[in-house]
Amino acid sequence: MANIRKEMEGLVLEEKLIFDRSRPGKKAYSLPKSDVPETPLNEMLPEGLLRDTIQDFPEVSEVDAVRHFTRLSTWNYGVDSGFYPLGSCTMKYNPKVNENMSRLPGFAQTHPYQGDDLSQGVLRLMFELSEYLGEIGGMHSVTLAPAAGAHGELTGMSIIRAHHERAGNPRSKVIVPDSAHGTNPATTATAGYAPIEIKSNERGCTDPRAVEALMDEQVAGIMLTNPNTLGLFEENIVEIARIVHSKGGLVYCDGANLNAVMGVARFGDLGVDVMHFNLHKTFATPHGGGGPGAGPVGVVEKLAPFLPIPTVEKNDNGYYLNYDRPLSIGQIIGFAGNFGVMIKAYCWIRSLGPDGIAAATKNAVLNANYILARLKGHYHLPFDRVCKHECVFSDAYQLKHGVTTMDIAKRLMDYGMHPPTNYFPLIVKDAIMIEPTESEDKASIDNYIDAMIAIANEAQADPDLVKSAPHKTKLSRLDEVQAARKPVLRWKKED
Ligand SMILES: *Cc1c(COP(=O)(O)O)cnc(C)c1O
Repeated sequence: MANIRKEMEGLVLEEKLIFDRSRPGKKAYSLPKSDVPETPLNEMLPEGLLRDTIQDFPEVSEVDAVRHFTRLSTWNYGVDSGFYPLGSCTMKYNPKVNENMSRLPGFAQTHPYQGDDLSQGVLRLMFELSEYLGEIGGMHSVTLAPAAGAHGELTGMSIIRAHHERAGNPRSKVIVPDSAHGTNPATTATAGYAPIEIKSNERGCTDPRAVEALMDEQVAGIMLTNPNTLGLFEENIVEIARIVHSKGGLVYCDGANLNAVMGVARFGDLGVDVMHFNLHKTFATPHGGGGPGAGPVGVVEKLAPFLPIPTVEKNDNGYYLNYDRPLSIGQIIGFAGNFGVMIKAYCWIRSLGPDGIAAATKNAVLNANYILARLKGHYHLPFDRVCKHECVFSDAYQLKHGVTTMDIAKRLMDYGMHPPTNYFPLIVKDAIMIEPTESEDKASIDNYIDAMIAIANEAQADPDLVKSAPHKTKLSRLDEVQAARKPVLRWKKED
């Protein structure tokens, strides 16, 4: 424990509600006295648009407001404050230069109604980004329109349905392995198909024989997550694609975790017909920030006519948005998608280049395997084989001392570190899923591993210490069930 570098401890800023800072008459501005006559608001605006005074509205100075929100911000842990190894989420550091580019006035102040002729730069960026993603995924055409990964899945499955409908039978079922992301069966059902589950084999992968046994002319296709939610590469994907195609089905690949394969393997080359990308994981937009995302979808040539409108195209007059596509599944979002996210992805891809993209993948995979190798023996490893960008352990060793995955996660906070993903994927009991990403260096990864090992030792020597953690946070264990069921969202003035 002595060597572990604690990056945060002992400086916890206390902060009450902003209402407690309120003093009657305090203001956050000072302006010179107006030298023109004042017009009351109700003479300028209709009654219905004016609100009543808000009771107990806080009255604070500028410094009160700034301190209040700055202090609160220190209670939040983000990827800019430290290592954030949340498996499946790719919480990596994204270079700030991409944010700056997305705020360039020419981009930020563009308007979707300004017309193609005044939007040539914007359209060119979208056109080229689609081409780059097509190259990375091995796909013929890419739409940038979907706003998220799950939205991309629904777009992709709607395209698969449109293809089958045109062939005369939409079909009724879709195969979804149990190692697929939870959004996959949900998407399948939303697209009007019955999901049929396949259990993973002892290597944590989808068994081609199981697919073969289920595959018939009523199956529209398969939805594979690759790498799957165990962080493992679906090693039989080529064989699975052959089986699905032999009965006229299509292969959807959930590529949300592309930072484990991009630049090294291309889904299009492996027999995939439709895939989505999560720009807000792999491609330079922070994930989990609650802001906009983008889940572009790539398709093989025969599915290109079904892509949502508008598509970004190019002719002799320049770039344009094409709404005239009779076979399209239609429009799936306002205008053409979340453009700010596209700018960041474009800049990131251009700044790394092909070699940099492949290097990011290799570093992400190397980092995860390094963690796997060093923690093996300290934590139970349900699938002991080379992983991709994340590794999955469980609490099976610690449970002998009554220490659970949740306890381990809470204890990590005493070391000033963010816990990994807990209890996901569901197919591993009490999973602990760690995803370091390519953006961490060896020192920070070693530090995390040392803390995890220290906790494994504590679980043996002093289980109560771990079970009662965290000890050094502002609040210790919260009643999470109560907080979710009965959230208290309104401030009430104390009597
Ligand atoms: C994150 C993720 C999704 C869902 O993406 P959202 O943008 O959150 O909708 C789908 N599949 C996998 C494998 C993911 O990791």
